Amino acid sequence: MTRPEASDALMGASIMMVDDESTTTEVLQMFLEGEGYSNFTSVSDARRALSLLRSNPPDVLLLDLMMPHIGGLEILTEIRGDEDLQHIPVIILTASTDGDTKLKALELGATDFLAKPVDPSELALRLRNTLAAKAYRDWLIFRDALTGLPNRRLFNDRLKRALERAAADDNACALVHINIDRFKRINETLGQAAADALLQAVASRLEKCVRATDLASNPELRPYDCPLSRVGGDEFSLLVPDVSPEGAASVGRRIVQALGDPFTVDGHELFLTCSTGISLFPEDGVDAAALLRNADVALSQAKRAGGNQCQFFSKSLGSAFLERLSLENGLQQAIERDELVLYYQPKIDIASDRIVGAEALMRWQHPTLGIILPTKFIPIAEETDLIESLGDWALLVACRQCKEWSDAGFETVRMSVNVSSKQFQTGALPRKVGAAISESGIDPTHLVLELTESMIMLDFDRTSEMLHRIKEMGVRISIDDFGTGYSSLATLSQFPLDELKIDCSFVSQVTTDAQGAAIVTATIGMAHALGLTVVAEGVETEAQLEFLRQRGCEEFQGFLRSRPVPALEWASLLLSRTS
Ligand code: C2E
Ligand code: MG
Ligand code: MG
Repeated sequence: MTRPEASDALMGASIMMVDDESTTTEVLQMFLEGEGYSNFTSVSDARRALSLLRSNPPDVLLLDLMMPHIGGLEILTEIRGDEDLQHIPVIILTASTDGDTKLKALELGATDFLAKPVDPSELALRLRNTLAAKAYRDWLIFRDALTGLPNRRLFNDRLKRALERAAADDNACALVHINIDRFKRINETLGQAAADALLQAVASRLEKCVRATDLASNPELRPYDCPLSRVGGDEFSLLVPDVSPEGAASVGRRIVQALGDPFTVDGHELFLTCSTGISLFPEDGVDAAALLRNADVALSQAKRAGGNQCQFFSKSLGSAFLERLSLENGLQQAIERDELVLYYQPKIDIASDRIVGAEALMRWQHPTLGIILPTKFIPIAEETDLIESLGDWALLVACRQCKEWSDAGFETVRMSVNVSSKQFQTGALPRKVGAAISESGIDPTHLVLELTESMIMLDFDRTSEMLHRIKEMGVRISIDDFGTGYSSLATLSQFPLDELKIDCSFVSQVTTDAQGAAIVTATIGMAHALGLTVVAEGVETEAQLEFLRQRGCEEFQGFLRSRPVPALEWASLLLSRTS
């Protein structure tokens, strides 16, 4: 997109003239209109000038100095001190003999002078030059150089005015934030020049899409129109005036769809997706700051849900989001601040009723919120890539704990550690397991890794290869939460597994639901056929335990015997069970 010629903008420019001599004004207005300037406002009562300037700032002001009630210099002083008006060019009309006043006006920031009586042709020339300079300056200040779209500064300014107008007219409107998904990666892959070209293509497609929705059909922007703007690297914003929530949703969806079609950059076809976040005026905020913040919240929500979608801000979304955000931020520091701990739940051999293992379960001792359970923070850790360091930490601490107990002369138990699918994706797990074993000195046959079935189904060959490497070290492999995914035992049989854990949700049904009982019975039978040890999770009653015993299930965990306990309570747990 190229910079428009300054002259294009000139004829549409709004000119305000403040002069108490109406004959001068009339003559000049007629002349300028004859030259093509059609947007001319004359103000003969100087006392009204400032309020008119504020409600409808012109592109240029022609200002007489000698007027009754309030002089031109006073008006000029006000203008230059007003944040919204200070950049308006002011051409002073004054008697040429008045040297001191001229200097004073220049000092106050007058843009140009014209001697009275005004020569209309000279005025037209000075006006053209002033407007051209202003158009160029506006372009530099208010436009994004790459795409030619309005930039954040203009957007924010327009947004403020658009909202004032919407409030006055009692109209609803919607703020739409648009962001390209995973743009950072695209940028790194393509390189700067191609990424720039892509952004230009995105901008022009967005513009077309917005125009097609009839939002920018008016080529002459009014001061309260708030057009599509590029407000950051890959961020665009748009204010949709006078719209219902349904209308806003359809704009949001159309944008997502429009960017879904392939782009061609440097002869290559590129696919990308974008997300949009929408906040509504007045429901989600009555000022620009609140609407901007809430559209951002909605946008982040769309990203978290996987991108390529449109999300609305809602107040409940706001507080859930804020809670999550604070957990996310806190989790970053939880390891350094020593706030994470492992609790240990005994795994009990059903036949002998002896403790044969421990499962390490993570807890977060939050400084203000107390103990937070892993179901609440592990998913956050997985989404934010913190799971890598959390997982590494748990593996090492659990191995050390196991070694410490065995060195202290406690009955030897196997230590089970939960592993998240994200820890598998980098391929570093076998190396990390090896490191934890050597660093802690644990006997590798005492270590059990618990994986979920969905996770090993993700990438069959790679997972299988990694599991074999881990298995070769002597480590045992367990399938956690069996029955909650969609794998078959037949598929699982191709992995080097040792143990299968039946999920709590099935165990809780064995004595109340015939179908649940049948599933557990069948699972135990099939697992045995594959040579796997079966562990039942979440055993809470003697009746459930009895059922499992009769079906030949080897081990169980559950509140019936013990909840997960901190390491310091492990000794007393062992004691209480032997006494
Ligand atoms: P999981 O591995 O299936 O762990 C068993 C969960 O069942 C534990 O919940 C345990 O406290 C709970 N449980 C044990 N006995 C009973 C019972 O009799 N009744 C009921 N209703 N529940 C029982 P917890 O500690 O809240 O952990 C939840 C999940 O969080 C774990 O499920 C595991 O998937 C994950 N998790 C815990 N620690 C870690 C960790 O260090 N790394 C990873 N990646 N995930 C972990
Ligand atoms: Mg587990
Ligand atoms: Mg489980």
